[in-house]
Amino acid sequence: MEEKLTGLILSKTDYGENDKIVKIFTLEKGTVSASLKGVKKAGAKLKFASEPFCFAEFLFSERAGRRTVIGASLNDSFYPVREDITKFFAAGAVLEFIRRFAKEDITSPNLFFAAIESLKQIAYGNVSPRRALSEFFISALKTVGYALNTDGCFTCGKSLNGRVFFDAFSGGFLCEDCFNGEGREINYATYFALKKTENNQETTEEENVFVLRLLDFYIKTKTEETLNSVRELLKL
Ligand SMILES: [Zn+2]
Repeated sequence: MEEKLTGLILSKTDYGENDKIVKIFTLEKGTVSASLKGVKKAGAKLKFASEPFCFAEFLFSERAGRRTVIGASLNDSFYPVREDITKFFAAGAVLEFIRRFAKEDITSPNLFFAAIESLKQIAYGNVSPRRALSEFFISALKTVGYALNTDGCFTCGKSLNGRVFFDAFSGGFLCEDCFNGEGREINYATYFALKKTENNQETTEEENVFVLRLLDFYIKTKTEETLNSVRELLKL
């Protein structure tokens, strides 16, 4: 049986002497695994289709529930992400986020299009890769049910100025009066930068780092996992 799916390569692992197994985030079926035969040989024509970031129409043959990629027509490889270390880790963080949240056989067109859009931004846009990644996280966290709530104090609704506390379990921010020990104090500048990012206002690179640190902390609290690419991005 043959099947055509639009997808994005998330990761690859070696299999046997010449083959690879790839994890693909597809528009139609969520994440799927598939093998690519002979792609480690010199001149293999589907080698490009085994590389992370490859966004293509994949043609699979399926037998006994196992997929093999037998054809691929490239939409984009987001090539510039391989030439710039900041772009590389920002784009890598997008793939890591999807690997963490996308599920086998559960489709998420919102997450799919957000990922493609942000890879485009990171590869070709003239916006900071850290900013593009923060925008992706803010929208993708909403999609997976972990929306941040930056509309003033989460408890009393007052607008926040002065001391701000972040409760990573609820994704909300609190004023000094409502803070009851759950969560931790954050810099007002971080909260302000996050709001600016959400509202499509310009941010400095320093602010982008503040926002990314907060999002990294939030994702880690929610998933008990660290996205390694974000850590690398924050070290640069
Ligand atoms: Zn309050």
